[in-house]
Amino acid sequence: MAKQLALVVGARPNFMKAAPLMAAVQAKGRLQARLIHTGQHFDANMSDVFFRQLQMAEPDLYLDIHGGSVNEQVARVILELDKEFTARRPDMVVVFGDVNATLAASIAANKLNIPLAHVEAGLRSFDREMPEEHNRIVADVLADYLFTPSPDADTNLAAAGIPPERVFRVGNIMVDSLLRFKPAAEQLAAWEAQGLTPGGYGVVTLHRPSNVDEQGALCGIVEALATIQQSTPLIFPVHPRTRARMADWGLLDALQASGVRLLEPVGYLEFVSLMTQAQFILTDSGGIQEESTVLGIPCLTARENTERPITLQMGGNRLVGNSPQGIVEGYRALRGQKAAPQQPDLWDGRTAERIEAILYEKLG
Ligand code: UDP
Repeated sequence: MAKQLALVVGARPNFMKAAPLMAAVQAKGRLQARLIHTGQHFDANMSDVFFRQLQMAEPDLYLDIHGGSVNEQVARVILELDKEFTARRPDMVVVFGDVNATLAASIAANKLNIPLAHVEAGLRSFDREMPEEHNRIVADVLADYLFTPSPDADTNLAAAGIPPERVFRVGNIMVDSLLRFKPAAEQLAAWEAQGLTPGGYGVVTLHRPSNVDEQGALCGIVEALATIQQSTPLIFPVHPRTRARMADWGLLDALQASGVRLLEPVGYLEFVSLMTQAQFILTDSGGIQEESTVLGIPCLTARENTERPITLQMGGNRLVGNSPQGIVEGYRALRGQKAAPQQPDLWDGRTAERIEAILYEKLG
């Protein structure tokens, strides 16, 4: 009988990483995969739209766990996965990235002695204030198979004492989705519906706690956006967490009044479409730093550090912090500059195939 994988996802940035692996497993037909969605992101525009657009089947199991404290969520996911993995024991659990589902599923697999694979292993911001940093570290320590996107990740894992035979550099699985869906995204021309000119606007996303959960930081960023908007129109699909904080602190109206186009989070195709013709991107997202590198769109990252240093080395991304001065200066320094599309080693759209082959060999 074919060996069984359980892929666990929970939040937006997991979906574009799981979809290529589901597709590769199905295409080869020699392993079986069950997709489990913890429900951390459950809104239509943070979850459902991705399954549709990434052509991924509905989850086989939906746990519907959201709300409450992070500890409550993680604990409930562990309990539900314990039941699931006991009732239908998979041969391997596969987790992605650095979200709470990654942490919870890693612990559940480990405590049941089920082999664990971590896709996007080895990334480190070295910033212990970042909740995601702890999730990555735990997943990497518990994983038996660590699939890394870049040489810096291999170096981090070696420095953490992870035996090299557990580490497989396979490239960036998110790029599999990006390259597959870029033509459809370009055809969508999402900038047109927003009345924007190709090359004449900036795309903004923000959701990191250090930027949006601190009133001073968020006020400063809003001030910077209003300044930039005076010379370059900005489009800003607002993450639910960010919208809630902006509403709490009365910042939504001010930002709207400045002319920044505020949207609900948009689907993957719409977002990639907007990125392809942007003059620049201003973000604190991890994945968007990578996508902008591949697309060749200059990226200003509103953080002091990044777990994706390869995007800085490739030249298209720069860290501008979250002060209004830092962001506006970063924007001014960009004027007229273009970035070239980059393809770091193994960011070639075939990462999922490589992972499937390794998992098959190991489980076979
Ligand atoms: N994204 C999207 N719609 C949006 C904003 C982002 O489809 O309105 C996509 C983006 O293209 C990337 C992923 O969501 O593939 C990044 O997720 P997020 O920024 O939430 O998480 P992070 O990468 O920071 O973990």
